Amino acid sequence: MGAVGAVGLAASGYAYAAMWPASGIFGSPLIAPEKAGELALTFDDGPNPKWTPRLLDVLGEHGVKATFFILGGRVETEPELVRRIAVEGHLIGNHSWSHKNLARTAATKVREELTRTSKALEQITGERVKYFRPPFGARRPAVFRIARELGLRVVTWNAMTSDWSEPSADRIARELTAKIDRLGKRGRAANIVLHDGGHLEQGIDRGPSVAAAGMLVARYGATHRFVRVDAWGSS
Ligand SMILES: [Zn+2]
Repeated sequence: MGAVGAVGLAASGYAYAAMWPASGIFGSPLIAPEKAGELALTFDDGPNPKWTPRLLDVLGEHGVKATFFILGGRVETEPELVRRIAVEGHLIGNHSWSHKNLARTAATKVREELTRTSKALEQITGERVKYFRPPFGARRPAVFRIARELGLRVVTWNAMTSDWSEPSADRIARELTAKIDRLGKRGRAANIVLHDGGHLEQGIDRGPSVAAAGMLVARYGATHRFVRVDAWGSS
């Protein structure tokens, strides 16, 4: 399990790559089905009071529904924003309370991170939280087991670039477009990750990620169907 050892490099792109989002070794995550033409935009590490509202405006203008994997620790300070995400028809998922590497976190703490987050979200939206994306994609059998016990389906991805450290929206959109098109050629839907927030800093600049989301929506709006991840499987 060399990949697990690499997790210490937390925020680096290398760690993301090393976590093998498509790996089924520790259990089977929800990624994307064989449905060319379907795209799921997913946004991690928010809500971000500076950028999530702008992102919601962009999605709303195009009638696109997306999935937001939210950090529980941000919910207390941004309840209105969480409410807005839900009211506007987006799917809300659990991204843990404090963005720990759960592959290296004690089982009792993993359970607490997930339980607290779902509870905080459910208190605001009144809806059961059924999807969970592990921070850094890091997981081990206990994480799957605990998620399952809490009624949470583990979701990873198949289209990501280092948008969290890339200042050019054009470049983010270009790299994701290449991945989306490659998946499409193989008959696969794309589960696309972008970040509207940052786990290390609240209010972080996500202008490039939000602009890139706008570019993808404009580019694929006429030819593809944007779906929430719950279109691809239940918990
Ligand atoms: Zn994250």
